[in-house]
Amino acid sequence: MSHREYVNVGSAKSKVIEEIGELLQAIGKVERFGLFNFHPDRPHMNNRSELLGEIADLENALARYKSELAKAKEPRDA
Ligand SMILES: [Mg+2]
Repeated sequence: MSHREYVNVGSAKSKVIEEIGELLQAIGKVERFGLFNFHPDRPHMNNRSELLGEIADLENALARYKSELAKAKEPRDA
């Protein structure tokens, strides 16, 4: 899950790439260990919570990326 202070570090595209990787990892954990299992270091957060958090992270990263793309101008317009 993202730490608030790092949300805007790096490009929007690099954040999407990172969050896709984290979502794939979370899906993999659910596939291997189940929705309600948890990492031994984080017994307060099961795999479902981790997965939902990563989905939200990716949605936020995609929204930022989409916003950037919407503002991009073609070179002839600059
Ligand atoms: Mg994340």
